[in-house]
Amino acid sequence: MSRLEAFIDRMVAQKRLLEHTARLIADVPGPVLELGLGNGRSFDHLREILPGREIFAFDRSITAHPSCVPDGEHMIVGEIRETLKFCGPRVKRPAALVNIDLGTADETAELAIVHWLSPLIEERVAPGGYVLSDLALDLPDFDLVAKPEGTEACQHQLFQKR
Ligand code: SAM
Repeated sequence: MSRLEAFIDRMVAQKRLLEHTARLIADVPGPVLELGLGNGRSFDHLREILPGREIFAFDRSITAHPSCVPDGEHMIVGEIRETLKFCGPRVKRPAALVNIDLGTADETAELAIVHWLSPLIEERVAPGGYVLSDLALDLPDFDLVAKPEGTEACQHQLFQKR
């Protein structure tokens, strides 16, 4: 398989997984948190498939296409290690879904992120809420959920809070 084909498979699987998770949170109240706005692709898809759901996006800088940047109230700029901990004045309720796409290929950097991010995620998610993550988070209060068929090419893990 060429790298182009592998990339397309991964994107199709990620789209399916987002859509599956959007259905799972139908009865879970609370906002969606997008950790890593990046190009704004997954943010744009989430707002399309979750109309009416409040979505907050986090990133250290804004590099997304201008049409995929949330309004000032819903764009939280800075290091997530700080902004997620202190976003309470804006993100007033526990999240129904946290979509994490922080995209590092460095194993040591990933372990460091998992170490500080996992406890912050534990605090921020509503009971019954979901986390979709490109990092293997350490979440003792969550169950790892089986992903649906056709999403194998996406490495993201799906967790649900008990
Ligand atoms: N989900 C995005 C999309 O679909 O376009 C792609 C996200 S991109 C792979 C990762 C983003 O996470 C980058 O924009 C980077 O700036 C941001 N990021 C990574 N680590 C961060 C951190 N510790 N604090 C804030 N932003 C971070």
